[in-house]
Amino acid sequence: MTQPNEDKPRDQQWRKDLKKSMTAKERTLIERVRMPEVEPSERIRSNVEVNQGISAEMALVEAKRCLDCPDPQCIKGCPVNVDIPGFIKYVEAGDFIKAAETIKKDNAFPSVCGRVCPQETQCEARCMLADKLNKEAVAIGYLERFVADYARESENVSQPLKAESNGIKVAVIGSGPAGLAAAGDLAKMGYEVTVFEALHEFGGVLKYGIPEFRLPNTIIDKEIETLKLMGVTFMKNIIAGRTISFDDLKNDGFRAFFIGSGAGLPNFMNIPGENFNGVLSSNEYLTRVNLMGAARKGFDTPVFMGKKVAVIGGGNTAMDSVRTAKRLGAEKAMIIYRRSFNEMPARKEEIRHAIEEGIEFLNLHTPVEYFADETGHVNRIKLQRMDLSEPDESGRRKPVPVPGSEYEIEADMVIVSVGVSPNPLIPQSLPSLKVSRHGTILVDDSHMLSSIDGMYAGGDIVRGGATVILAMGDGRRAAQGIHEYLSGKS
Ligand SMILES: Cc1cc2nc3c(=O)[nH]c(=O)nc-3n(C[C@H](O)[C@H](O)[C@H](O)COP(=O)(O)OP(=O)(O)OC[C@H]3O[C@@H](n4cnc5c(N)ncnc54)[C@H](O)[C@@H]3O)c2cc1C
Repeated sequence: MTQPNEDKPRDQQWRKDLKKSMTAKERTLIERVRMPEVEPSERIRSNVEVNQGISAEMALVEAKRCLDCPDPQCIKGCPVNVDIPGFIKYVEAGDFIKAAETIKKDNAFPSVCGRVCPQETQCEARCMLADKLNKEAVAIGYLERFVADYARESENVSQPLKAESNGIKVAVIGSGPAGLAAAGDLAKMGYEVTVFEALHEFGGVLKYGIPEFRLPNTIIDKEIETLKLMGVTFMKNIIAGRTISFDDLKNDGFRAFFIGSGAGLPNFMNIPGENFNGVLSSNEYLTRVNLMGAARKGFDTPVFMGKKVAVIGGGNTAMDSVRTAKRLGAEKAMIIYRRSFNEMPARKEEIRHAIEEGIEFLNLHTPVEYFADETGHVNRIKLQRMDLSEPDESGRRKPVPVPGSEYEIEADMVIVSVGVSPNPLIPQSLPSLKVSRHGTILVDDSHMLSSIDGMYAGGDIVRGGATVILAMGDGRRAAQGIHEYLSGKS
């Protein structure tokens, strides 16, 4: 199949022919594909990836559901404006590699985003089928994952070449999605990029937060390998601002910086008993399990394996923690969340998977106090029931305590997952760096430039706890800003 007129893909004859090959009515009658999943009884005993991905046959059928709308709203629903109908039409035409290339123009790591992006509130929410025709949206996330995995596994895909170096050194602090995306774009432009990571593994939350049953580590390792092939240097166990100062880095010849240090500081509720043994943050719990082998025999940093585990919160982090606890043998693994299911910030799919796995949900509840046994280890939680107010100006219903509704439940482990704050270390080490009252680094929106010349920032350190795709988008915008700065264009 020839694909001329690359600039205006819609005008290409193959795409016009494809559109004409079926009526819109026929397309809307096709049922949305179902992603095969590992059975709950099997998956709670291992870290196997729950979602198994769709086959090429399924992808070819699902792609037909896309109406190739003249004014595609799905693109506007994507934080980095991936050409969604563009890549889906390549899938329908059977050119999966071209589909992957189309996504990669805007999204550095589609095999990650195809797995963890909240599509149901972004691109898929704006799909014409769902928004106007009351049908299920095109499975954009499944298709994205399919083409990204296909491209990665295909032996025909050429690796990005190591760009010819322009000799200019740029430092990237933090190896999460923001840092990796910035590093990739800077390397493509010929910069000598070094990524400095505080931990002993690269990938940020993708590695130490999101568990393997949602995002296998091999996928992140592969992305890092590709960046290495492009000439990016990775240095671990280095805390910028502590083990190495920014002055040291400047003296080493680094001429610009991207700060992608994330939001690694866990929030607590400051209620009585939070200091008892067995009460810990999601960050600590997931990092110990995912990164430090805490759940395996023979490791120096074990984690307590609770039998009655209560996770406080309703976001993705809470869901990952409670499902991890279940996999580590908890007989009772509970979510305690102060609002109802409708308001839960976690992805709908994660909530469904958690329910299937036997997680108990105590919605409209909040902990007010923890109690401990004689050894100081948590053994009970006092809970209070909550009600929801009428929606306020922002449209959100506030949780309101129900007076006199307190009661106690047993728990030998409590994992607090009520949000994160920006990592304070770098702002503390750079007094002239302007931060908000929440501790996020202030940047200009277009290029992510901070208050310090040559220093750019993005991802959770700028947004507070946000999403992978927003972090990647920031990294890429900052890379462009750094390029303009270093080439004298800004
Ligand atoms: C458990 C969990 C589940 C999540 N699930 C989802 C999901 O399903 N979908 C989604 O879109 N988002 C999800 N998120 C949010 C998403 O992962 C984050 O928004 C994203 O990772 C932020 O990327 P980042 O690059 O800004 O920071 P991070 O991923 O936090 O990476 C920052 C890196 O910087 C390093 N660092 C910090 N300070 C320094 C320093 N001084 N020197 C050197 N290195 C430093 C850290 O060690 C870390 O590796 C989840 C988050 C968590 C915690």
